[in-house]
Amino acid sequence: MVIISINYAIAKCTGHSQFAPIATWVFNIAVLFANDWFSGYHYSALHPALKFMDDLSGLHPRWYINFNISMLRLIAFNMDYYWAYRRTGTQDRGADLNYKERTSTYHPTEMYNYWNYVAFVLYPPLYLAGPIMSFNDFLWQLRRPTHIPLRGVLNYLFRFVVCILTLEFVLHFMYVIAIKDRQAWQGDSAADIGFIGFWNLVIIWLKLLVPWRFFRLWALADGIDPPENMIRCVANNYSVFGFWRSWHRSYNLWIVRYIYVPLGGTQNVLFTTILIFTFVALWHDLSFKLLAWGWLISLFFIPELSARYLLPQSKYGDKWWYRHVCAIGAVGNMLMLVSANLVGFAVGTEGMSFMLSRMFSDWDGIRFIPILYETLYKTMADIHALDIKGDIVIPSSPGFEQAIARKSGTSVLRAGYVITPATVADIPPAIEFALSRLPPLEIAVKGGGCHSSTNSSTQGGLVIDLSKLKAVEVKDDKEWGKVVAVQGGCIWRDVYEKLKPLDLIVVGGNVSFVGVGGFTTGGGYSSLSAELGLAIDNLVEAEVVLADGSVVRCSEKQEPDLFWAIRGGGNQFGIVTEFVFKAHPARGPAITGTLVYPATDQQGQLAPAALDNVLKALHEFLPTQGTNSWLNLVFGRAPTSPYLPAVMIFPYIDGKDGTTALAEKALKPLLDAMPPYIPAQLETKATFYDVSRAPEVFLDHAPPRYAVGAASFGDLNDMIVREVFNEWVKYSDQEETRGTMVMFEFGKKGKIDSVAPTATAFPLREPHYYSVITARHGRHTNPEHDRSARDWVSSVCGIIKKHNQEKLCTPANFALGPEYESQEEVYGVNLTRLRKLKAKYDPKKVWRRGWIIEPEA
Ligand SMILES: Cc1cc2nc3c(=O)[nH]c(=O)nc-3n(C[C@H](O)[C@H](O)[C@H](O)COP(=O)(O)OP(=O)(O)OC[C@H]3O[C@@H](n4cnc5c(N)ncnc54)[C@H](O)[C@@H]3O)c2cc1C
Repeated sequence: MVIISINYAIAKCTGHSQFAPIATWVFNIAVLFANDWFSGYHYSALHPALKFMDDLSGLHPRWYINFNISMLRLIAFNMDYYWAYRRTGTQDRGADLNYKERTSTYHPTEMYNYWNYVAFVLYPPLYLAGPIMSFNDFLWQLRRPTHIPLRGVLNYLFRFVVCILTLEFVLHFMYVIAIKDRQAWQGDSAADIGFIGFWNLVIIWLKLLVPWRFFRLWALADGIDPPENMIRCVANNYSVFGFWRSWHRSYNLWIVRYIYVPLGGTQNVLFTTILIFTFVALWHDLSFKLLAWGWLISLFFIPELSARYLLPQSKYGDKWWYRHVCAIGAVGNMLMLVSANLVGFAVGTEGMSFMLSRMFSDWDGIRFIPILYETLYKTMADIHALDIKGDIVIPSSPGFEQAIARKSGTSVLRAGYVITPATVADIPPAIEFALSRLPPLEIAVKGGGCHSSTNSSTQGGLVIDLSKLKAVEVKDDKEWGKVVAVQGGCIWRDVYEKLKPLDLIVVGGNVSFVGVGGFTTGGGYSSLSAELGLAIDNLVEAEVVLADGSVVRCSEKQEPDLFWAIRGGGNQFGIVTEFVFKAHPARGPAITGTLVYPATDQQGQLAPAALDNVLKALHEFLPTQGTNSWLNLVFGRAPTSPYLPAVMIFPYIDGKDGTTALAEKALKPLLDAMPPYIPAQLETKATFYDVSRAPEVFLDHAPPRYAVGAASFGDLNDMIVREVFNEWVKYSDQEETRGTMVMFEFGKKGKIDSVAPTATAFPLREPHYYSVITARHGRHTNPEHDRSARDWVSSVCGIIKKHNQEKLCTPANFALGPEYESQEEVYGVNLTRLRKLKAKYDPKKVWRRGWIIEPEA
């Protein structure tokens, strides 16, 4: 407690001064040496009369051995406090944070108090051996507890028991430790000794895995989720970097945050690596032997570092030979690591020299070398197919449920792998990996995860989740003026946040959490479309990863066929990793809000007159509608008992002239014709960005499962609206379906329809309006109701389509799912050309989620 308190005092006294990190490190390293030197200190050293106190050694007499772990926490606290004081890191946005954010987001400085600090340092589950976590992470989990499902903890417990039993099994039936200890390998071949060494290593790995898993399990059961150690088996590591990253992973994360990054990170890799290993060796044990081991290990990094420097993945990662070069290097690394560990931890120098002599003494020994190399090479080439910087999650991984989650529970399928590329270069190996399995894995691509179908998910296949590809960059273009390059994993909020301070907008989603990827490849309607066209009409260039793993750029001039196909062809031609949109000067202020007209009379009986009045006002308003407005006619129920049905109008009217005067003028006829029963809840929003965030409060609390479908229609037809209204009133009368809504969208025809239906792959260019039907099972999370919800949405769409003389199609963004709409309905007049282009860009149908386009024979 004395050491802990002094460390705290150092943090508080040095505050944000540059001296703080130096004082912290000097103190902690000095304590490390002093602990060792004085063997944990003795009372008798203070006074011989106190010797009796030394005999009362307590539960944990050699406490100073574990102090090494505590020391990491002491440094973590001081450094996190220092950075919080200097506001270095991320500011709290009030949302739930993931592991990385929990570490880099600082707390208010008053939270770095003594009691939180002591709780962190002495937290029982992690006190003895870790896993190690940062103070910021620990405190975030106390302040905003992470949801750790009981099922996940039980699963972890089960796997832990299996690990112990595996260790027991190996120790019982494979006497490799006894053979090693007795050096009983006389007469064995080189291969035999190789296996003895290998299994010794596996046992060491398992031996360490068990306590780490135990302590983490304890923390998980207590509601704290620390980082996992040993995320990769020792036999599944081919990179020296990868080996260290995944072995004592939580320690590695600690080193990266508190040593590697502050010392300059990639700027001085070799220097920091040597320094880190010096620290690691001394931290483990203050002996020269380990120090020498640490320096030797640092040298092992040199071949890998050189290879990375000469053949960077960013430049050559998509070349066919890259994987094989990596595999050759990986075998070299592997042999180096295995030999070092065999000497250090398994068979020792005697075993190694015996093995070498056996390798070269007879034909069997000599044959062993190429066989070993060949076997390792094949394995490495296979593993390297998934050598990516991003994350790989499988069903048994801790974050699996989160990785397969979608905005609506109806879209979830249980994938075999979820890969989250950190860079575009991660995508080709992921595709290659999926296709090299037998049978090949189905690939699904997830952008913002908003579509209510299962198109971005796969049952047992591989999901490529683009959520880490989030860069947004504004550029000047000679031809287009200001353009915005948006990576394929962005949601619209990412784009608007970047553009807002620059007074720019793009044609994007009306709701900010909708993904750019699905939205744009499906056409992309916005309240701005009447004036500026669809999102695809503003797309000037894109980068696409094709089915064969090649990365190509396309525009009207470069690969025009591909550029045509991704503008409306959905997910059928490749993964769009970058969209370049034309930017426009910001619009606004705009008037938005809700006009509510109860659909019942004073006695609560349905009053058709209310709907009639609204329709009448709409008929008057629509001919005068300008390109600055977008209007939604919505059926929804009141949120409180008796949940009366209501007819609502959600207007979006842009001032355009920089004031709200124009918007107010545009809205006036509607208000005059029919004043709302409830005072109009209209607000002025400064920008389109603010408008797009408005529905979030409502939608973020939307029920977890919903089905969305749509149908388009040529003109406002009262008969259709009334029929749909009656169906909706009947259906939404139950507790679980009360959240069901119907929305008819009215935007001025003009800019969208001015483009020919065949100019892009998006076919719906005839004058039209949209209806969007959302069925919700409010209080139920039961997947068994998904089908009935979708069926109902489909039946209501059917009512509209039945009256639809123009036979308008339903493009991918608003369609329910491939079980409901045909390819003809989704791709319309463009299906024939799309089939030709499918044969060109994806003849083997690698992209086969959603409305699959059959390649032309
Ligand atoms: C609340 C809400 C409001 C909406 N408002 C509008 C609106 O105003 N206008 C409109 O047009 N639509 C709107 N939509 C529909 C929306 O555009 C679609 O659901 C769209 O598919 C969402 O894209 P996503 O990336 O979030 O979807 P996801 O579910 O991730 O993906 C949907 C499909 O797109 C594919 N995909 C995603 N990203 C990429 C990529 N980068 N490259 C290739 N394929 C990709 C997926 O493979 C999948 O097939 C809305 C949806 C919701 C839920």
